[in-house]
Amino acid sequence: MTVYASNYDNLLSIIVPAYNEESVLEAFHKRLISVLDGIEMKSEIIYVNDGSRDRTLEILNSIRQCDHRVAIVDLSRNFGKEIAMAAGLDYANGDAVVIIDADLQDPPELIPELIKEWGNGFDVVYAKRTLRQGETFFKRTTAFLFYRFIQRVSNVSIPEDTGDFRLLSRKAVESLRKLREQQRFSKGLFAWIGFPQKEVLYQRDPRYAGVTKWNYIRLWNLAIEGITSFTIAPLKIASYMGGIFALISFLFILVIIFQTLVFGNPVKGYPSLIVVVLFIGGIQLICLGIIGEYLGRIFNETKKRPLYLLNNYYPSENSSQILASDRFIVQERIVNGSR
Ligand code: UDP
Ligand code: MG
Repeated sequence: MTVYASNYDNLLSIIVPAYNEESVLEAFHKRLISVLDGIEMKSEIIYVNDGSRDRTLEILNSIRQCDHRVAIVDLSRNFGKEIAMAAGLDYANGDAVVIIDADLQDPPELIPELIKEWGNGFDVVYAKRTLRQGETFFKRTTAFLFYRFIQRVSNVSIPEDTGDFRLLSRKAVESLRKLREQQRFSKGLFAWIGFPQKEVLYQRDPRYAGVTKWNYIRLWNLAIEGITSFTIAPLKIASYMGGIFALISFLFILVIIFQTLVFGNPVKGYPSLIVVVLFIGGIQLICLGIIGEYLGRIFNETKKRPLYLLNNYYPSENSSQILASDRFIVQERIVNGSR
């Protein structure tokens, strides 16, 4: 295990995915830099503009004018937070990389603590929330159930009650960059790469301003994504269910034959017949749906499209310095179709 010391030779990259965040960005940046100024590391802040339709890009540009640590990765359209984070990782040059939300729900004040654990040799230091404020009872319970479920059925253990707020070592970042899947469930990917991981507890604040981009349909899709990209348990459940029903119906056949032979065949049983037909029909449709979910994902992956397209890239002072040295993997960026 490499033990890193946080000193001025090391570079810290902060990745901030931002989608329609005009109302919080300035406050966020102010709070972030007051934390960064107290850290003994050089830093760069990579804002990923995920196809915002408001003044986000304009505000980012004006922030970048005044702060040379700021880089902007401007995506060609809204690709979603998962892909925005992947884009940020492609452009992060740091020895340690922190991913943080723009809405101040992840307190930047926790960053020094994350760095401390990185210094202790951990490659992934994730922030685990102890308290959820400003979130409905329904969201809290569904999130709780989702983490429990995914932990049960997948063979990677995804830590509960963690978001994407975390620190990644260079090794972890390079590993994540190898995972170019379209259907991204980042929390799962962070767990999948392995390496020594450590949790740091924090209280999640309510959104500072603006509105959440998550609605229940998006959360539902994310849950399906999490399940289908980390386990084939639903497919197994479908086939076991098929087996069980086949067995039951075989026994039922025996009963019917026996009854017909012994008691004759009076025409009755329409209600039970229709119930069985509808029930089996329903089960079959559900199973087909499950297969469809996986098939659709296979279809998407086989197209091998680049993860995202770039509209523009505005480097920071630090990224251009490092660009000049050969530490930077320019080649891979070209392969990814981003520059
Ligand atoms: N985000 C993004 N692209 C999207 C949706 C969200 O980059 O399509 C960013 C958003 O700007 C914020 C972070 O992801 O920095 C978390 O989004 P949000 O606060 O809406 O999610 P929540 O905290 O409610 O889970
Ligand atoms: Mg938020």
